[in-house]
Amino acid sequence: MIELPVCDPCDLCEGMAGREARWAIIEEGEHTLTVINPWQFEVGQCCVITRRHVATLLDLSTAECGSILVAARRVAHALVETYRPLGILTFQNNGVYSGQETPHYHHHVVPRQPGSDWGIGPPQLATFDGAGRIRGTPHDPAGDALRRERVQASAQQLVETAQRIRSNLPDR
Ligand SMILES: [Zn+2]
Repeated sequence: MIELPVCDPCDLCEGMAGREARWAIIEEGEHTLTVINPWQFEVGQCCVITRRHVATLLDLSTAECGSILVAARRVAHALVETYRPLGILTFQNNGVYSGQETPHYHHHVVPRQPGSDWGIGPPQLATFDGAGRIRGTPHDPAGDALRRERVQASAQQLVETAQRIRSNLPDR
């Protein structure tokens, strides 16, 4: 049984309903939205999320599975054009023991740059101090409060970042 994080109300559903201040959309699709991650561990870091409130990979429809990767590929092209990163990291977490913090499907797309301080993999698997790196323990972001403070972008910065990336999306 996969244990899900608790977040009530769901912050992603709140964002889609227009009730989240730190929220900026890069692209909308039939099944997905591509949004800026309010935690900018890397500048330009974003997520493809499902329109439906479903928690994990196991809950996705076949159509959603396809739409998510198509959207991720589109924004990856835009991130390469915008930031000329060293690499693009994509990942998603299913359950608190894999690092999931919000019980709504989100697929991370991250441009990696020199000087990044969260290692080569997803943060909870890399240098994220105190974040559940002992096998069999759930992800606990509370131990990373200082870094989270530093990487929190303002609502205005998020909007500007989203606009910049959107301007470099490939044609449909
Ligand atoms: Zn939701």
